[in-house]
Amino acid sequence: MFENLTDRLESTFKKLRGHGRLTEENIQEAMGEVRTALLEADVNFGVVKEFIASVTEKAIGREVLTSLSPGQQVVKVVHDELVELLGSQAEPLKLDGRQPVVIMLAGLQGSGKTTTAAKLAKQLKEKGRAPFLVPADVYRPAAIEQLHVLGEQVGVPVYASTTEQKPVDIARQAVAEARTGHYDTVIIDTAGRLHVDEALMAELQEISRTVPLAEVLFVADAMTGQDAVTVADKFNTDLEITGVVLTKMEGDARGGAALSVKKVTGKPIKFVGVGESVEALEVFHPDRAASRILG
Ligand code: GDP
Repeated sequence: MFENLTDRLESTFKKLRGHGRLTEENIQEAMGEVRTALLEADVNFGVVKEFIASVTEKAIGREVLTSLSPGQQVVKVVHDELVELLGSQAEPLKLDGRQPVVIMLAGLQGSGKTTTAAKLAKQLKEKGRAPFLVPADVYRPAAIEQLHVLGEQVGVPVYASTTEQKPVDIARQAVAEARTGHYDTVIIDTAGRLHVDEALMAELQEISRTVPLAEVLFVADAMTGQDAVTVADKFNTDLEITGVVLTKMEGDARGGAALSVKKVTGKPIKFVGVGESVEALEVFHPDRAASRILG
């Protein structure tokens, strides 16, 4: 996670720390290197521009030039700005509304929705909640079967959807069943396509108009970088997402999606997937991620 960026920034900051005093020129030069490092990490161009302008202004303005350990000060400014870029603080799920609360997972095919649904159910169950998994990908019987297998693995009941049902009816009936079955958290796994597709979006909008959704989590493969951010932006416009889950983060050495998606969509990263097993889902902590980037 973020290894490439960490390696690149390490040499820049080492150089900065090596100076007893810093000149404005030293800072400008370092910021040029940070800029290149971020662009190579596939961070959104506009996000990089804003980030560098803000860090440069603060670094020069904060009397870093006259401070005792100027290099250290610049690193601190970069750290704080990275935390903000990543979302400031961890954003918990909103589960306090009328029970059962409903969480819908949306995203492209292969992004990790079904796996994330099971991982999330497992975490919520361990926290003492009573989750109910709902497969609503009626186009791929294998996806329904996959959620049944995962549900069994994590010990969470799964609604008996069939491919003859409409996704919106599945959602409505599953919520009714959750109510009678005393489940407090419904997790709906929706269909995905290879590309953003108007029919799919209409289907998701219909679900969101029919059942009250506490969370609409957009799930994306972090390895797809800026494509993930573009698709997140589209889903947010059409569907009003409440947060993002970035999967396959453990294999993403660059981190471009993680560093751009909050700024571009305004919606926080709530979880990251860090492996294929049902345990491999972590709450996203911007401060820890920033510290990790800075090594
Ligand atoms: P869906 O089509 O969006 O439902 O995607 P799936 O849940 O079926 O996931 C697609 C593939 O990605 C599967 O092989 C998953 O095991 C894998 N996957 C999901 N999340 C992660 C993750 O965080 N890390 C890794 N390495 N693989 C993941």
